[in-house]
Amino acid sequence: MQDRFREECGIVGVFGHPEAANLVYLSLYALQHRGQESAGIVSAKDDILISHRALGLVADIFNEDIIRRLEGSAAIGHNRYSTSGQTLLKNTQPFVVEYGRGGLAVAHNGNLVNAVELREQLEGQGSIFQSNVDTEVIVHLMAASKGERTVDRVVAALSQVRGAYSLVFLTPHELIAARDPYGFRPLVLGRIQDKDSVVVASETCALDLIGATYEREVEPGEVLRVSASGVESFRPFPTAPRTSCIFEYIYFARPDSRVYDRNVYEVRKDLGRQLAREQPAEADIVIPVPDSGVPAALGFAEQARLPFEMGLIRNHYVGRTFIEPRDAIRHFGVKVKLNAQADVLRGKRVVVVDDSIVRGTTSKKIVQMLRHAGAAEVHMRISSPPTISSCYYGVDTPTSAELIASENSTEGIREFITADSLGYLSVRGTYNFLKNGEGNGFCAACFTGRYPVPVSDPGRTHQLVLFEAKER
Ligand code: AMP
Repeated sequence: MQDRFREECGIVGVFGHPEAANLVYLSLYALQHRGQESAGIVSAKDDILISHRALGLVADIFNEDIIRRLEGSAAIGHNRYSTSGQTLLKNTQPFVVEYGRGGLAVAHNGNLVNAVELREQLEGQGSIFQSNVDTEVIVHLMAASKGERTVDRVVAALSQVRGAYSLVFLTPHELIAARDPYGFRPLVLGRIQDKDSVVVASETCALDLIGATYEREVEPGEVLRVSASGVESFRPFPTAPRTSCIFEYIYFARPDSRVYDRNVYEVRKDLGRQLAREQPAEADIVIPVPDSGVPAALGFAEQARLPFEMGLIRNHYVGRTFIEPRDAIRHFGVKVKLNAQADVLRGKRVVVVDDSIVRGTTSKKIVQMLRHAGAAEVHMRISSPPTISSCYYGVDTPTSAELIASENSTEGIREFITADSLGYLSVRGTYNFLKNGEGNGFCAACFTGRYPVPVSDPGRTHQLVLFEAKER
């Protein structure tokens, strides 16, 4: 990932609960898979906002003392993923600014495709930016707006941005949630019944943990204002064809979440069944690449009537870095995370199912590990189409040049990963099965190269990355 506008993130907001910050903290825990580089919580008490943000994992950033200091009955939170070049404290969210009488905080999931132009315009008019995140553009547009109420300023700002956004804003007395008209990134609304509290979050797994009931999606193009007078819904933007990110289903969301009103686990299992229909293999067992490939492998095994086995076991306690022995161990990097079980694999013709191939390096190492553990044949099956194009709407995919499928045929990739066979799910199969045709529900630009919202000049974002790297 080299583009400063690519970020995967998790967001949450709680309004009307005496332990708002604590619930936001727990929600961020549930959403940790959406971003591991930094996290932050901002709470609203009386007329002020209180914030705590830091680099690292949720569990390492917050403790009881910090949560206790985040007083108030409303709070928002954010988990951020970014590459090392962008891991700067000033870029952590929620983003907090002086605004009105008590300040404004905002947490954003998604990427704006016209942030560079807007930023240049704003800077030309005298704006001074504190960070490199495109979310700050929204705040400057709000400041420049003439709207009286905060929600009017939010709408005025969002009317000028293009791209993907699921957002939560917090002022001392209100919480505002917004989702772009295309519905690129998920956002759900829930309630904690006994306290009459309102929760918005990227995924329903956050609601489950804090005992909130799922009510519905925040609709594409909807703006919600939550205050002491209740929840108000606005539809201020022209409607657009819905293009929700298909990759949330393939890889990104937690399987126990409801995303776009469907259970992710069920979707992945169905994709696995479809994969078995399209790409059958003569084999003895089906194994997943854990954890991402598990539901699809279960579906594949069920459809193919083959035994499902755990031929690879994952170590769940692997941190971001580890010290390699000086005398290099073969495939050490992957082995730290995954271990192949010889007793399960020896002499077997193995179907190994994963959700996607990005650069191809993991798959190659996995195939080699399986062979080393005694597998007689290795048939790789992928429960999505080849990833051929970068995402500009909020998923961290590398540049197209680094995507193995952008330059290579399936046969070329099979050769590279040294599998006996390789089969991807077809684009048509993925759409058909999801019961929505292209342009009728999903963005699949990563698989098709067709971008529903034009990306004006992706090259320019790279220049900014170089600048940022020097700055560090
Ligand atoms: P690669 O070696 O680049 O082909 O890595 C493929 C693996 O990366 C698969 O096991 C996927 O589950 C996983 N993967 C796919 N998309 C992403 C992403 N956006 N961030 C991190 N891992 C991913």
